[in-house]
Amino acid sequence: MGASFDIVIVGAGHAGAQAAIALRQNGFAGSIAMIGDEPDLPYERPPLSKDYLSRDKPFERILLRPAGFWHERAVTMLLGERVETVDAARHLVTRRDGETIGYGTLIWATGGAPRRLTCPGHDLARVHSVRTRADVDQMMAELDDVTRVAVIGGGYIGMEAAAVLTKLGKSVTLIEALDRVLARVAGEPVSRFFEREHRAHGVDVRLGCAVACIEGKAGAASGVRLADGEVVPCDMVIVGIGIIPAVAPLEAAGARCGNGVIVDGSCRTILPDVYAIGDCAAHSNRYADGAVIRLESVQNANDQAGTVARAILGSTDAYDAVPWFWSNQFDLKLQTVGLSTGHDQVVIRGDPATRAFSALYLKDGCVTAIDAINSVKDYVQGRALVMARARIDPARLADTDTPLKALLTG
Ligand code: FAD
Repeated sequence: MGASFDIVIVGAGHAGAQAAIALRQNGFAGSIAMIGDEPDLPYERPPLSKDYLSRDKPFERILLRPAGFWHERAVTMLLGERVETVDAARHLVTRRDGETIGYGTLIWATGGAPRRLTCPGHDLARVHSVRTRADVDQMMAELDDVTRVAVIGGGYIGMEAAAVLTKLGKSVTLIEALDRVLARVAGEPVSRFFEREHRAHGVDVRLGCAVACIEGKAGAASGVRLADGEVVPCDMVIVGIGIIPAVAPLEAAGARCGNGVIVDGSCRTILPDVYAIGDCAAHSNRYADGAVIRLESVQNANDQAGTVARAILGSTDAYDAVPWFWSNQFDLKLQTVGLSTGHDQVVIRGDPATRAFSALYLKDGCVTAIDAINSVKDYVQGRALVMARARIDPARLADTDTPLKALLTG
């Protein structure tokens, strides 16, 4: 057998890195190893579709911590190594090269693999996902020869990539299967606002369009054929249609999995001494009325990392953080707090025409989420309303003369 560590973290992304940081911050003095299949030290993923793609930030500036940090805290980095199997009974993981590594406690923090298209042409050159530095470096290396880009998927990542590429002077067509963009994460008025903004910036937004295949010339993408037969010509395709949680080795080891690996309030799986955190972990979330969900956000990765570190050190505090998220598109900053899924009312606060407003989501009369667009104050002050699930008269929520912070007590 190879080396053995008190704690082995599989996945060197946001959640894995933050777990190691939190363990050391909380005084854990045992040995820690982090095994990651990417060659790089842990880095921030959000800039990949924002200022890293636009070349406004070099890679060194998106590293979560510099190399010396990990060295000083005695975190052994095993990078470019993929864990293929977990033997829960013997407390071992096996790498692709057959090497085994022993653990006292295992933290599974593997995120997810980008969902790929399955239609003909999905594997042509110049068809890209946006999940890793390598994905974006490859795109950037090709961009000089690209004038037309087809973005498939109108979620956050597709919309952000469309905005950056438009700013870089590319002609962008955004293809979304549903009848509105951001449908999974925002209410209708917010979707329509972003649709209008993208159109105003020159993005050709196509809604309700299914993709039939990717057409190619000389092995590279040359167009996207839609279900109605129309071909959207392009020199590059970007696919942003979600992720599939990377939990196969844990599932094979006997962990309960559905959409991700199922964990309890302390981020424990049902396997002994095995925890899971971040994008791959399905947990019961208070802000989703207790439904078992996965959150794909830096907030969730960081907060679950804190929970797991404390749990390993003996705390019984359950994960209970309010979800928040952000997205940058053109000069618009969208900040979300809470989960709007299942809302039955949307209150608009402010005038979308001014490009600074908020959408407050209500369920059964209570505030469950806020989307604040260029409206930091509402985002900051509205958080307490979401956390309290406050029941407030919609007319008062819409009244911009009253700050949101005045509503909780009033
Ligand atoms: P990851 O950061 O994906 O890390 C998992 C790591 O594990 C990866 O390096 C993966 O390759 C590795 N791995 C997987 N399987 C194995 C294995 N078997 N062995 C070894 N290593 C393995 N969130 C926000 O809150 N705001 C944003 O604006 C935002 N923008 C985003 C933009 C983009 C382009 C992307 C891709 C994500 C964005 N997110 C954003 C989401 C956020 O980045 C993720 O929620 C966060 O990275 C999750 O952290 P994680 O550690 O769970 O997974």
